[in-house]
Amino acid sequence: MLIRDYIRASSLEEASERYAAGGYILFAGGTDLMVKARGKKWYQDKTFLDISGLQELKEIREEENFLCVGAAVTLTELEENREVRERLPLLYEAVRSVGSTQIRNRATLAGNLANACPASDCIPALVTLGAQVEVYGGKGKRVIPAEQIFRECRACLRHSGMHVRTCYYSDPTEKKLILEPGEMICGIRIPFPKPGTGHWFYKLTQNRTIGMAVMNLSMTVEPDERGKARRIRLSAGGIFPRPVCLETVRGKNAGKSLREACLEQAVNAIEQEKDLLADYPYKRRVFPELIEEGLEALLPDGEEDS
Ligand SMILES: Cc1cc2nc3c(=O)[nH]c(=O)nc-3n(C[C@H](O)[C@H](O)[C@H](O)COP(=O)(O)OP(=O)(O)OC[C@H]3O[C@@H](n4cnc5c(N)ncnc54)[C@H](O)[C@@H]3O)c2cc1C
Repeated sequence: MLIRDYIRASSLEEASERYAAGGYILFAGGTDLMVKARGKKWYQDKTFLDISGLQELKEIREEENFLCVGAAVTLTELEENREVRERLPLLYEAVRSVGSTQIRNRATLAGNLANACPASDCIPALVTLGAQVEVYGGKGKRVIPAEQIFRECRACLRHSGMHVRTCYYSDPTEKKLILEPGEMICGIRIPFPKPGTGHWFYKLTQNRTIGMAVMNLSMTVEPDERGKARRIRLSAGGIFPRPVCLETVRGKNAGKSLREACLEQAVNAIEQEKDLLADYPYKRRVFPELIEEGLEALLPDGEEDS
């Protein structure tokens, strides 16, 4: 691996100061970074700054109606967490779909988000759930809605073939996130969905082995007080240059049923990417089918009025 050096940060303040000074790349689980560092010369003059041992970033805690996940929490730790399994099943399924046990033992949720790959499995789930990202830097802490933290990454989606696995950036946080120089993610806050909310996660891969999604879909259907479907939220990987949440609310769709309105919105959204997306004809055909499958499972008969 071609890197200048590697050090372990001893506190969040130290990590933040060093990172702000320049010449450092944040290193959490290293599952993305090590792949890049093996193949590219990008990091010859950079020091990997390992934040994975910082206790203040290792916490999973409940706060009001949120689960707060520190930036050094691994995907395996999330997978093993009861609150995640029972109260955030969409996130649980997304996390479990990442790579292999070995990858999840090291990879972090914050690293998955910071890497900002359009085919990430966790980002659509976080965006659908309305997660917030806690960011720490010279000006202290601030919170950014997950959906608003990303910049467009058009280059990634132009990659030929069905995979969206090429990252063109040595430090994706600089180009793909709206962070200020020196700002780092210290945690992710995920609101617990309303009781009765249904969820759907689907990952389409090329050959059913370990690897990035060709497309994935995260969807929730929230009920009203009578238990009737009121709001659909969905986000997808492998399609959009920046993660978006498509939301459909019953009664606001000019006479169309919730199902029709949701599908129409999704088709309109993917058609905007016609000139950008590799494998567009395939994805244009399959995307609505993935959504229909989810809606079939989540919207019982008779729940489709406008
Ligand atoms: C074999 C293999 C299979 C994989 N399969 C999948 C898959 O199926 N689905 C999927 O979504 N991903 C997959 N991945 C990608 C990867 O595992 C995830 O993106 C992982 O979650 C990244 O987390 P990490 O902690 O390892 O990040 P790192 O590699 O440590 O860092 C990734 C990027 O984020 C930055 N970063 C890390 N932490 C922070 C922070 N706190 N604040 C700001 N920036 C930060 C780093 O500087 C770096 O640029 C796979 C990777 C491999 C090698």
